Amino acid sequence: MTTKEFKAESKRLLELMINSIYSQREVFLRELISNSSDAIDKLYYRALTDDNISFNKDDYYIKIEADKENRTLSIIDTGIGMTQEELENNLGTIAKSGSLAFKNENEIKDGHDIIGQFGVGFYAAFMVADVVTVISKSIDSDQAYKWESQGTEGYTIEPTSKDTVGTVITLQLKENNDDENYDEFLEEYRLKEIVRKYSDFIRYPIKMDVTESKLKEGSEDEYEEYVEEQTVNSMVPIWKKNKSELTDEDYENFYQEKRFGFDKPLKHIHLSVDGTIRYNAILYIPENRPFDYYSQDYEKGLELYSNGVLIMEKCADLVPDHFSFVKGLVDSEDLSLNISREMLQHDRQLKLIEKNINKKIKSQLLSLQREDRDKYEKFYDAFGRQLKFGVYNEFGANKDVLKDLLMFYSSKEKKLVTLDEYVSRMPEDQKYIYYATGDSYDKIEKLPQTELVADKGYEILYFTEEIDEFAIRMLVNYKEKEFKSVSSGDLGIDEEESKETETKQEENKDLFEHMKKVLENKVKDVRVSKRLKTHPVCLSADGEISIEMEKVINAMPD
Ligand code: ADP
Ligand code: MG
Repeated sequence: MTTKEFKAESKRLLELMINSIYSQREVFLRELISNSSDAIDKLYYRALTDDNISFNKDDYYIKIEADKENRTLSIIDTGIGMTQEELENNLGTIAKSGSLAFKNENEIKDGHDIIGQFGVGFYAAFMVADVVTVISKSIDSDQAYKWESQGTEGYTIEPTSKDTVGTVITLQLKENNDDENYDEFLEEYRLKEIVRKYSDFIRYPIKMDVTESKLKEGSEDEYEEYVEEQTVNSMVPIWKKNKSELTDEDYENFYQEKRFGFDKPLKHIHLSVDGTIRYNAILYIPENRPFDYYSQDYEKGLELYSNGVLIMEKCADLVPDHFSFVKGLVDSEDLSLNISREMLQHDRQLKLIEKNINKKIKSQLLSLQREDRDKYEKFYDAFGRQLKFGVYNEFGANKDVLKDLLMFYSSKEKKLVTLDEYVSRMPEDQKYIYYATGDSYDKIEKLPQTELVADKGYEILYFTEEIDEFAIRMLVNYKEKEFKSVSSGDLGIDEEESKETETKQEENKDLFEHMKKVLENKVKDVRVSKRLKTHPVCLSADGEISIEMEKVINAMPD
C-alpha cells in the first residue's frame, strides 16, 4: 500500500482550508452531514431512472456516533457511497466536487436540494481531527474501500469490507492542549446543539444514541439510565410547510424555539417568493422592544439559510435599518455562496431579497394598522421611534415607505392618528397640517400658541419626541399638505384682521420698543399677535427652525 500525495497545490490549499476558511470549527459537522444528505439525495435521483433501485425514504438516514473512550466521532450514512475511483477523485482532489458534477451530469434542474458544490467542505474535518477514515461502499461496486488521511501528508486507499451501501466517516479527534479542547465534540448535548443549529432542516433523519433516564421499575425515586436512538433534527422546516397547515401557535412556538425573543410575536409574516430570486421567509414583529434596542449593542439581522442549511446567524443586509426590529429567517436556494458558506459572492441577491422584504413588512404593518389598531399601537409604542428615525435618516430616502406608518397624538381625537386620517378630515379652508411640540400632551394642550389653530376648529398633532419634528421636516408635506408648527410666524389663518393688528402695532410702538430692549438678545422682535385668545403672550419662531428644534440642536454635542 502506497501513500498517495494530494494532487496539485492541494497541500498548501489544505493547510489554508483547515486553518483559515471557517470562523468556527464546529461547522465541520455541518459539512459532513451535508455531504451525507447529498449522498442520499443522489441515491434518490438514481432510483428515479433506475428500476433496479427502489428508494424508500424511511430506510435512509444519517447517524452520528461518539466514542468517548477512543475519542472518535463517526458520521454514518446510507447514501450512494463512493467507488475507489470516486474516493480518489473526490476526496483526493481538493476543490473537486462530485456533487456538482452529479448535478451537471444528471441535468438536475430542480436539484437545488443538493448542497455540495465547492469540493472543500469535507476537509473541514481536519479542523478537529488528526486522522480521518472514510469507509465507503458504492451502489455501483461490490467492493468497499477505506480511504485514510492524516491531513496534509496525503492519503491511502485500500479494499475493506462493508455490508451495506453507504459511507462511514470516522474522525480521530485531535489531542486536547492548553488552548484547545476537542472533547466537546464527543458530548451528546453539544453534538445535538450543533446539529440543531446548522442541520436541523436536513430532510433525512439525523440519528444519535441518546442517554435518557427513567424511574426504575417498582421504584418511586430511583432512576436508571438507558440508551435510545433518537432523531435530533426536525427535518421539515416550518417555512417549507404550507401556510394552511400551520396555526398561530406553530409560529409562536417556532419564535420561542429560535429564541427570537421572550415575548410573543405580535405578528408573523410567512413568505414564499417565486420571482427573480426564490426564497422562503418567516418574519416576526416582536411585541416588546428588546432592552438594548435603541443602543449601540443592538444588532439587527435575520438568519440566512441556503437550502435549509444555516449560513449566517445574523445577516444584517436582509433588513433595512428602519425595520431593524424584525426577527426571523430567510431560506433561499438561489444564493451563490462563497467557499466557506459564511458569505455570499454577490450581495445583489441579498439586495433583491431585502427590497422585497422591505415592501412586505410595510404592507403587513399597514394592514395591521387598518385591521387591528390596538395591536398596531402596541407595536408603535415599542418601535415607532425607529420608524421616525427611518424617515429622517439617509436624507429622507425612505420617507415614502414610512410616511403612512407614522402616527401622532391628535388634539381632537385624543389618541394616535395617521397622517392620512388627519388630512382626510381637514376642513376645506385649512391649508396646513398643524403640529405643536412639547414635553407632554398635557403641556402642549396648555400652550398659548395652540389657541388660534384650535379655535379655528383645526386638529393639531402633538409632538413629544425630539425626533418628531425632524422627521416631519424631512417629509415636508403629506398628500400635498405642508406641515406647520403652531409657533411659526405665519400660520396661514385669517388675513382679514390684518388691518386692525397693524394699527395696534403702530399705537403700541413705544411699549414694544421698550420690551424689545429689556429682552435684548433673547427675542428678535415683539409684535401684536392675532393668535392669542386667553393668553397674554407667546413665543413664536420666525425662520426655518422651530423653537423646539433649536433646543435639540443646541443640546447636541459639537
Ligand atoms: P462538496 O460537498 O462541495 O462537493 P466536499 O469536499 O464536501 O465538497 O465533498 C467532496 C465530494 O466528495 C462530494 O462532492 C462527493 O462527491 C464526495 N463525498 C463526500 N462525502 C460523501 C459521502 N458521505 N458519501 C458520498 N460521497 C461523498
Ligand atoms: Mg460538501
